[in-house]
Amino acid sequence: MHDVIIIGAGPGGLSAARWCDELGLDTLVLERHTEVGGQLLSVYNPVENYLGARAENGGALRDLFVEQTKDCDFDLWTQVEIESVDLKAKRIQLQSGEELQSIAIILATGLRRGRLGIPGETGFQGRGIIESATRDRDQLAGKDVCVIGGGDAAAENALLLAEVCPTVTLVHRGRKMRARREFTEQLHTNRCITVFPESIVRRIIGSDLVEAVEIERGGAIKPFQMAVQGVLIRIGWEPNTDFVRGQLELDDRGCIIVGSQQETSIGNVFAIGDVANPLAPTIAGAVGAGATAAKVIGARLQQR
Ligand SMILES: Cc1cc2nc3c(=O)[nH]c(=O)nc-3n(C[C@H](O)[C@H](O)[C@H](O)COP(=O)(O)OP(=O)(O)OC[C@H]3O[C@@H](n4cnc5c(N)ncnc54)[C@H](O)[C@@H]3O)c2cc1C
Repeated sequence: MHDVIIIGAGPGGLSAARWCDELGLDTLVLERHTEVGGQLLSVYNPVENYLGARAENGGALRDLFVEQTKDCDFDLWTQVEIESVDLKAKRIQLQSGEELQSIAIILATGLRRGRLGIPGETGFQGRGIIESATRDRDQLAGKDVCVIGGGDAAAENALLLAEVCPTVTLVHRGRKMRARREFTEQLHTNRCITVFPESIVRRIIGSDLVEAVEIERGGAIKPFQMAVQGVLIRIGWEPNTDFVRGQLELDDRGCIIVGSQQETSIGNVFAIGDVANPLAPTIAGAVGAGATAAKVIGARLQQR
């Protein structure tokens, strides 16, 4: 029996674990991946807006977090797959067969990149589909590329790719892009970039490497193929809440609804960070929410 089980070791989960240690709580952190850090591991730009630390990228900030938790007395299990959770009973069944029990649970499972679910999306990862223009654009220098998505991230990546690629075609579903005007103005004046609104990429095609995308344009009768050698997908984020769906209150995006103390609709089950904060997902927000949840749990357990 643990006092607290924290699911997810991104900034939120690590902050909660740090505070649970300080409050003397018996704490276990479960992380699905081999490494802790969550989305920080996908941040390739400098992180300048987290007060108290400047880092050349998210990985470097993650290293600072790890450094500051390495002497703490909590258990961290990585590469853990959860089979099922009974939030009311505070019981967690792992795929390995192990059953865990705690007094409180903190859900810190964050977000994952949205997926198109189209043929070619997984097969060409690293073979024409790139993860980030900041990190990978040299791979696509001199090549024709397609960026899929209509928000800030898609626009920003298209602009970065246009610095090294002869043509960048940005394909998005909506009639208007959701990106900030500052970005859309630059897109429309950049001669390398073509924007296809009301359009959907149906397939990513190639043999060994990406060779083309199949696009369905609004109003057109038939889809057509456009030759490209690179693809970057930025279609938003989805909360990692599938494994608790049906047990607690979620909003219409699937994010967990919490009160001011980060508690969910189930007593002693807390949710922190992006998974409970769809409007303002930030490192600072996740770290702060982790501290709040841990302190509330600490105070309750002291009164028992
Ligand atoms: C490109 C990019 C740039 C960004 N730049 C900034 C910035 O400059 N400033 C800023 O404040 N924020 C920035 N952010 C956002 C910031 O990274 C997030 O707000 C922050 O990481 C949220 O932390 P979190 O702990 O809530 O979730 P996450 O970082 O998403 O971590 C969640 C963790 O939970 C794990 N997990 C998920 N499901 C399970 C499960 N079932 N079992 C076990 N483990 C699970 C995941 O593997 C992950 O490790 C950026 C994000 C990106 C992608």
